[in-house]
Amino acid sequence: MSKEYQNYVNGKWTNAKSKAIRDIRDPGNGELVAAVPECQKEDIALAIDAAREAFDHGPWRKLTAQDRGKILFKIAEGIRAKSKDLAELEVRNCGKPLAEAEFDVADAANCFEFYGGLATKIHGETMQVPANSLSFVLREPIGVCGQIIPWNYPLLMAAWKLAPALAAGNTCVLKPSELTPLTALELGEILMRVELYPGVVNIVTGPGTGAGEELSANSKVDKVAFTGGTVTGRKVMTAATSNLKKISLELGGKNPNIVFANADLEAAIDGALFGAFANQGEVCSAGSRLLVEKSIHKKIVDGMLQKIPKIKLGHGLTSGVKMGPLISAAHREKVESYIKIGIEEGAKLVCGGKRPTGKEFASGNFLEPTIFDHVKPNMRIAREEIFGPVLSVISFETEEEAIRIANDTEYGLAAAVWTRDVNRAIRVVQQIRAGITWVNTYHPTFNELPWGGYKQSGIGRELGLYGIEEYLETKQVNINLDEAPIGWY
Ligand code: NAD
Repeated sequence: MSKEYQNYVNGKWTNAKSKAIRDIRDPGNGELVAAVPECQKEDIALAIDAAREAFDHGPWRKLTAQDRGKILFKIAEGIRAKSKDLAELEVRNCGKPLAEAEFDVADAANCFEFYGGLATKIHGETMQVPANSLSFVLREPIGVCGQIIPWNYPLLMAAWKLAPALAAGNTCVLKPSELTPLTALELGEILMRVELYPGVVNIVTGPGTGAGEELSANSKVDKVAFTGGTVTGRKVMTAATSNLKKISLELGGKNPNIVFANADLEAAIDGALFGAFANQGEVCSAGSRLLVEKSIHKKIVDGMLQKIPKIKLGHGLTSGVKMGPLISAAHREKVESYIKIGIEEGAKLVCGGKRPTGKEFASGNFLEPTIFDHVKPNMRIAREEIFGPVLSVISFETEEEAIRIANDTEYGLAAAVWTRDVNRAIRVVQQIRAGITWVNTYHPTFNELPWGGYKQSGIGRELGLYGIEEYLETKQVNINLDEAPIGWY
């Protein structure tokens, strides 16, 4: 049964003005899951007006921080209360295995709870200044926030955007990816139930062209927060210059996962596979470049090949499945084009590279987990973000060489190092130019910690205390304690 959704604007459910709709299909079997409004510029403009009105004249930012926090706690409860349905819907919309979707849903609830608690901890400072002055700093919401998110973690990315913005007292227009809008719209139902004031959050579905562009460019928006590809991020940043919006960007990555010979090799092999193939490799922080010390190169590759059959492909709702379909037929073709490029560049395809055969795979966008060995750092498969289940294995001989290869990228999102030598681990982490680093693990991250990239992987940070900073203005207040005129003239 497919469901027809509407946009959540100004506390009501609305259609696109043009009445256009988009069918949403399950990437694992092609079934119709839902229909959503296909909004354009005019629809986004209306949502922005609602958010503007709610910020300028509504009660939201005048609420006590405690009351805002309580509403965020209720949103977290609302997510938990329908976590099973949300997780299943996430699988049917973006393809990931159910266990991963369940994790995302739980984490989305935790994110609202984290920022619900943080709402009451926002504070300014008093400064010691000379003369007869009392000076202090106030922290205030920025205003209307335009938030644009991608398709790989639909509900979680919505939580990462909305929770800190709301805790700080802003109002929001959220545009999910046109491919995966469903859990964000379900979140709209939760927001309605917690009686969030009209216009405080608006969720509008539509494509990047038109809808996304308007959210980045409209001068009634004070801040734009974007997660997506680096090429799109550059466009958003350019559009945001219209009124010099505050901006934060969470972009792509080509992340090095470095394994030294003195690592626990069994754990490193596990971490290499999880780093590369979790969420079908459709992860900004995926460890898509595996840098392996020459002396253990064969052991690591053989160890991965032995374990690859355990990565069971299938529909995300099928029990035991560890890897689902890619998000769309077009995206699978893009990933396949990189596999062709890798072969042409002379890398050695040691597993995968094909669509799996069998009836259960016939109507989904499946692709086998793929490993290229003997990859050179200058090959395109080692430099460009593929955003799919394709791992490039590169050899190195010294620590210096590993660091040089790791940093030889325009990106700087994440990196990991595997070694039992704590000094080496710290040395390497200190020299890696990336915003998220791991030692002897891959992928775990927590709401308490900052998330974001160096170089062309982004601007600003999400999550933790750093995340709320991105949604706050800073105001200095100077009080003259000397009643006499200053007497300058
Ligand atoms: P994308 O850049 O194609 O789209 C992201 C969002 O931007 C979508 O909502 C899309 O509709 C919108 N958009 C497209 N063109 C636009 C425009 N001109 N103006 C405004 N909005 C526009 O990315 P995607 O394919 O959805 O997601 C994959 C990318 O996201 C990867 O590069 C991945 O690394 C990145 N990503 C980064 C993080 C992070 O935290 N750094 C997290 C998840 C995904």
